[in-house]
Amino acid sequence: MQYTELGKTKENVSILGFGAMRLPTKGSNDNIDENTASEILSYGIDNGINLIDTAYPYHSAGIDGNGNSEVFIGNFLKENSYRDDVLISTKSPSWLMEEKGDFEYYLDKQLEKLKTDSIDIYLLHALTKDDWNKVRKLRVLDFLDDSLSSGKIKHVGFSSHTEIDTFVDILDAYPKWEVVLTQMNYLDEYYQTGVMGLDELKRLNIGSMIMEPLRGGRLVQNIPPEVQKLWDCAEVKRTPVEWALEYLWNRDDVDCVLSGMNSLEQVKQNIQIASNVKEISESDQDLIREVARTYKTLTGNECTSCGYCMPCPEGVDIINCFNEYNIGKMLNNPKGSAMQYFSLIDEDCRADSCIDCGDCEFVCPQMLDIPQELEKVDNYFGREFNHF
Ligand code: SF4
Ligand code: SF4
Repeated sequence: MQYTELGKTKENVSILGFGAMRLPTKGSNDNIDENTASEILSYGIDNGINLIDTAYPYHSAGIDGNGNSEVFIGNFLKENSYRDDVLISTKSPSWLMEEKGDFEYYLDKQLEKLKTDSIDIYLLHALTKDDWNKVRKLRVLDFLDDSLSSGKIKHVGFSSHTEIDTFVDILDAYPKWEVVLTQMNYLDEYYQTGVMGLDELKRLNIGSMIMEPLRGGRLVQNIPPEVQKLWDCAEVKRTPVEWALEYLWNRDDVDCVLSGMNSLEQVKQNIQIASNVKEISESDQDLIREVARTYKTLTGNECTSCGYCMPCPEGVDIINCFNEYNIGKMLNNPKGSAMQYFSLIDEDCRADSCIDCGDCEFVCPQMLDIPQELEKVDNYFGREFNHF
């Protein structure tokens, strides 16, 4: 296993972190298969993983609920005397906060679930622009100051799927951020905060933890033949998992890559890659770009996110509607993109708000018939978040 310093925290972390959001389950998402989960976590820790990332709602029955991942991790670490061997990262459910006292209420609950006196890395979970504005009004920064002083948390940060402007606003608002969890993989260099966000973190010496390194597994499953043909041309052969992980570990702005592993085979495979990261050459970089381009040709339409069609007088978020639609088509993953579509885009800004007024006619350099394309988006996702 290789290790690196996690930005300002100065913690020496394994470059592979254990994401505890996709633990093995029996039947339903809230029913963790504790024997198998214990076996694979023990193997991971015994072989060098020293960071486990969980969150209040992971492995709950519903998306907003009180999950079982923290409870399982707390019991597992205590029963196996592993607490001193790992850093626990968990997240505050920002969307549930209604008054200032709620922050402390949930933190205390999480400390109890995790059976610990102190959380090593505490992140405000999935901050959107609206959540950020709300938690600031509820004086979240005072709460973080107090929790750092009392020792209930050691390092503080946030996770986010926002666009870069909100990301920078959040970074600028608090000098004590030490860690940020952000989405990155070779398809997402210019999606959400992408390379610009990582660049900001490096400039500020804030530790970067990476989520979705395999795009929810889609970069390594059901590889389209067009993509496989390209991988087969590489001078140094790699598996799709090696391509995805080594791409990240060859970046100097990436610290710890979280992987939501749920089988012993995956843990062994990822640890093996993390123990001997091969260099990505210039020609490998070119090939990765070509693969990313090929994935993108498999998308639903040719929108380049140029923004010429915005703002729409009805408030339709055309760029993000097409973004999520294209990603879902490209990766053949409508459920994953639906989660983003319904959580990131406000109800009034989704595809079904288009009234076909014609204002965006002829403006698109890609010659897209925007209302017609929005209708396809609406048909693809439906009108309710009912995929889970
Ligand atoms: S046609 Fe639809 S997307 Fe285009 S400007 Fe009118 S309402 Fe907005
Ligand atoms: S003008 Fe066309 S390419 Fe540009 S963002 Fe709008 S739909 Fe996409």
